[in-house]
Amino acid sequence: MTDPAQTVTNWARNITYTAKEFHRPDSLDELRSLVAGSARVRVLGSGHSFNRIADPGPEGVLVSVAGLPPAVEVDTAARTVRVAGGVRYAELARAVHARGLALPNMASLPHISVAGSVATGTHGSGVANGSLAAPVREVELVLADGSTATIARGDARFEGAVTSLGALGAVTALTLNLEAAYDMAQTVYTELPLDGLDFAAVSGAAYSVSLFTDWREPGFRQVWVKRRTDRPAVDFGWAAPATEAMHPVPGMPAGNCTQQFGVPGPWHERLPHFRAEFTPSSGDELQSEYLLPRAAAVDALHAVDGIRQTVSPVLQTCEVRTIAADPQWLSPAHGRDSVALHFTWVDDLTTVLPVVRRLEEALAPFDPRPHWGKVHAVPGEVLRGRYPRLADFRALARDLDPDGKFTNPFVAEVLHG
Ligand SMILES: Cc1cc2nc3c(=O)[nH]c(=O)nc-3n(C[C@H](O)[C@H](O)[C@H](O)COP(=O)(O)OP(=O)(O)OC[C@H]3O[C@@H](n4cnc5c(N)ncnc54)[C@H](O)[C@@H]3O)c2cc1C
Repeated sequence: MTDPAQTVTNWARNITYTAKEFHRPDSLDELRSLVAGSARVRVLGSGHSFNRIADPGPEGVLVSVAGLPPAVEVDTAARTVRVAGGVRYAELARAVHARGLALPNMASLPHISVAGSVATGTHGSGVANGSLAAPVREVELVLADGSTATIARGDARFEGAVTSLGALGAVTALTLNLEAAYDMAQTVYTELPLDGLDFAAVSGAAYSVSLFTDWREPGFRQVWVKRRTDRPAVDFGWAAPATEAMHPVPGMPAGNCTQQFGVPGPWHERLPHFRAEFTPSSGDELQSEYLLPRAAAVDALHAVDGIRQTVSPVLQTCEVRTIAADPQWLSPAHGRDSVALHFTWVDDLTTVLPVVRRLEEALAPFDPRPHWGKVHAVPGEVLRGRYPRLADFRALARDLDPDGKFTNPFVAEVLHG
């Protein structure tokens, strides 16, 4: 199932990978010999990143692990699941739920691969919820020489091995912790003012809360409140419940979104904003996102409000979420409870990039860490200063991949400049 000459683009089609060959091996042995016999390799997940993070460059080969057997092995007694590197959250969630178990959180869409998501620190929302890397307990890799390695919690290398930007090897499987299945009810509220916003109370009002605005006016057009039905009811007194089904991007069909109006349902059909069977989000878009210390949330929102006339003309929607601190060395939420300011832009990099730069100037006082999979313009030297364990990651990458086979220009800029 490999067509070396195939042209491959990312989901948003703003990136055409420049790899000299594209491969989709069917077996672990085929993957191992492909990696051992290649000088430069990057693994592609479901291609939902908006930048060149997965691109090996013209001298390298791009490899998808989606052709490997799509194992999802649930251990109900241990409450864990071992999931193959190419599997997406939609399939994982269905299999886990069928066994009466659940993941603690999901991103806004279930179409993304598990390995690609945890490699970039992808996250959902919730003041006590870590990124999607948080439940990972073991990583299985094919290393540069074609050998295999397993790095588990307790191993001194583990905190570098999950959110790894694909720089350590090809992830063939991950083992995740699970919990008992739970139901959720999702309610959308409208028109929450920015003035007087009690961010801690609003974001902590339920298991997972997302605020949306188009920055045409100060304040939030929508607040998505996802409540676990096994937790106390929510008294969301700051805004009124929506009277019709909502989509986060104004004008897009709400039918693509997960059930609202407080109707209880399984966790995996409420945590994502978008239904697995529909195209998520708007499709024609670029995205940026910045994680900042949560205590700075209100100041950072006012900083964006101060430039909303620059931001809003190229913006489809802005989402504000929370992520609990985690110990992964390259996680954008490393060591700090975070607020994430996400921007879905129009699909035109030429007009978006100057706005991204202006936004980054406005957010700079808050030490923002850009999402690894989205558009940003923060120089490598500034980025490196925002990751206190970067040197540990660099040493781990050198140890597992001495010749930099899994490095590409994106990773080299982050690690070395
Ligand atoms: C519509 C849309 C909505 C989104 N919503 C969210 C959201 O709610 N929250 C959020 O945080 N992000 C979100 N994102 C961003 C997205 O989650 C990340 O870009 C994520 O990396 C996507 O996973 P992927 O498999 O598509 O990764 P890819 O883009 O394919 O790859 C990303 C990185 O992971 C590496 N990689 C992938 N698979 C492997 C593997 N098996 N072994 C080694 N390395 C691997 C690649 O080499 C690359 O470095 C969204 C993106 C889109 C398009």
